[in-house]
Amino acid sequence: MSIEQNLNRIEEELKDKNVTLVAVSKTKPIEDVQEAYDAGIRDFGENKVQELTNKIPNLPQDIRWHLIGHLQRNKVKYIVGKVYLIHSLDSIRLLNELEKHYKDQKLIANTLIQINIGLEESKTGLPLEELEDLLNACENCTNVKVKGLMAVIPKGDEESCKNYFRKLKDIFDGLKKRKFNNISMNILSMGMTHDYKIAIKEGATLVRIGEGIFGKRNYNNK
Ligand SMILES: *Cc1c(COP(=O)(O)O)cnc(C)c1O
Repeated sequence: MSIEQNLNRIEEELKDKNVTLVAVSKTKPIEDVQEAYDAGIRDFGENKVQELTNKIPNLPQDIRWHLIGHLQRNKVKYIVGKVYLIHSLDSIRLLNELEKHYKDQKLIANTLIQINIGLEESKTGLPLEELEDLLNACENCTNVKVKGLMAVIPKGDEESCKNYFRKLKDIFDGLKKRKFNNISMNILSMGMTHDYKIAIKEGATLVRIGEGIFGKRNYNNK
């Protein structure tokens, strides 16, 4: 199936559900991104800063770029003002680095807190027991705003996916009820090619789909 056909099918599934589709274009060439853009997509996700900053100048400027991969502190300076949403805020040290660079440029960083919901099975994200400390630190920022939560869940069967998504949704709902400075719970970023339908049933407001749109990634081919 072509990129456009894949998109048509997925958009049909998302219709009337109020879910944002982010097309994950990592490892894929500019031409593929342009094809999805021409089919109407404006939100694209990349997981590496270098690949992202290489793509940005070669594509339409109204694309909303989502940084979905781990962000190293020494790379923050390359993305300031270039990304629409950072999905991977996972430490106070990264928060402080974002606050510093965005303040210098008088810009606002919109972020999601990436939670390590899979515990020892997943390598990335903030351990749950550190969440309150990160929230406190976020409340003291002026140039970093938190818009919601994100997670990458461990691979597993439908039941296992459902449980992880529910766990994240519960945390999201719990935080939504509280009052914070700089923190709102509007975006719940969960679900990828193999589990996005389950994620939507469990309350995702944003799904990140790569292979389901662009086809299999070939990491040897880069
Ligand atoms: C690669 C990636 C995706 C998309 O994965 P697919 O299985 O290709 O849909 C989503 N989220 C993150 C964080 C990723 O790194």
